[in-house]
Amino acid sequence: MVASDLVNLSGLMDDAKCFALVRQHRWPEGICCPGCGSPAVIRDGCDDTQPHRQRYRCKPCACRFDDLTGTVLAGHHQPLRVWVLCLYFMGLNLSNRQIAGELGLAASDVQTMTEQLRRGLVAKTPEVTLEGEVEIDEVYVVAGHKGQPGEVAKRGGSDGAAGWQARRAAARWRRTNHRSSA
Ligand SMILES: [Zn+2]
Repeated sequence: MVASDLVNLSGLMDDAKCFALVRQHRWPEGICCPGCGSPAVIRDGCDDTQPHRQRYRCKPCACRFDDLTGTVLAGHHQPLRVWVLCLYFMGLNLSNRQIAGELGLAASDVQTMTEQLRRGLVAKTPEVTLEGEVEIDEVYVVAGHKGQPGEVAKRGGSDGAAGWQARRAAARWRRTNHRSSA
């Protein structure tokens, strides 16, 4: 593999088709808002530097996004064409090593890319952030029932809710008792 092959291959690719392929992979059921999931989305012009990168606006939540917003493809150091070629080669069942050879990349880079692509071109939803005072309730883990049928009956019986409240009260008492005796 010589460098000119890569240049030729990449040069044959059409940016418009690259973005069309991304849209097809990302939204097989039709474009929807990455913020609220609504399909009520309208086109809102194109990216200033990438004329085929479509921008959108969500009608219900008014959020703005484009073809690549929130995906691994946004702001990545590899050009979109390289990602699209990688997707194409994955479709041909090429190994990471073969894809690396075709794209002139390190096998480790290609492995990272294929792993990210397999996870899907799905925008990551932001993780839940807890604010203010957070109380975590006690969790009871039953370590083992073997040889303790009485314990099983006591914990898993029909009075489950009442038993839980009793245990919770007992735990509270133990905590306060421990604190005062410390
Ligand atoms: Zn929305």
